[in-house]
Amino acid sequence: MGGNAMLSRIDLSSDEVKAEQSVNVAIFRKRQLRVWFGFGSVFLGPLVLDAFLVKQNDAVIVGFVFVSIIFVVFAVLLYKCPNCATQPLSVSCSIADEARYNKGVHPLPVRCMTCGFYLSGRALKKDIQRQKQANLHGH
Ligand SMILES: [Zn+2]
Repeated sequence: MGGNAMLSRIDLSSDEVKAEQSVNVAIFRKRQLRVWFGFGSVFLGPLVLDAFLVKQNDAVIVGFVFVSIIFVVFAVLLYKCPNCATQPLSVSCSIADEARYNKGVHPLPVRCMTCGFYLSGRALKKDIQRQKQANLHGH
């Protein structure tokens, strides 16, 4: 299992733990969809409006983008691990131009980096399966 310290903290062979993780994933999924929806409307909204508006109306498009950006800001603020309220961040570094260091929200986090709770349903399912296999071979 690659010696992941957090992985051993969550016992996926327990039904109670599995249920708890599924709930965490489900709540986080809603927050994630809200962020994606917000970004989608910021970038695609103007194109859609431009294509379907009968009369070219820049004020409507600018207003729509403005509202969408506010929506995104709130969605990102609420984009947190349901268990411990840590924001999933991704860190990117580049040494090329004077050691740039970027921090942003992670679009597809697998697990919370603070409490180790699952944030991805797919990863949870995969690890439950892996745990089952390990139990079969281990005992
Ligand atoms: Zn957490």
